[in-house]
Amino acid sequence: MGDERPAGANAASADGGWPATGVGPMPPPSASEYLIQCRYCGSVPAASVTYRAHRGMILIMQFRRIEGPFCRSCGLEAFRRMTSDTMLQGWWGAISFWITPVILLMNVALRHRVAGLAPPGPSPHGDSRPSDGPGAPLFARPAAIAAMVIFVLLVVLATTR
Ligand SMILES: [Zn+2]
Repeated sequence: MGDERPAGANAASADGGWPATGVGPMPPPSASEYLIQCRYCGSVPAASVTYRAHRGMILIMQFRRIEGPFCRSCGLEAFRRMTSDTMLQGWWGAISFWITPVILLMNVALRHRVAGLAPPGPSPHGDSRPSDGPGAPLFARPAAIAAMVIFVLLVVLATTR
């Protein structure tokens, strides 16, 4: 009872030919999730996953990534931060405009890797601290809200004449 196991069925790689450092070959079975510790707070269970962000600046662009292993809280925080940043900063370039939805979809496809974990607890190996928590939900973050406002304004502008 209370044994939350992540659904490992959907293990297809969400990688669209991107340089795939850090994305594990397969999700680990649930038992091994207790053998790896969160890179940021040391809690268990943790999942090895990488979340990405993209920023377009007309002629130049910037790729960021943050690698686990993450516990559930730290992983959701990383997913939300990178995804909301990309929602606002990603679109601003001719190439970036097409890269951004790929980055967003990759993050969303990998969200379940941390969302499916049991809540973080202290590691049996010691050397862990309580996670800082997952932070505000994605659509409650200023960058995501600003992105949605801009999107709505663009749709209004495009449809009013
Ligand atoms: Zn953590």
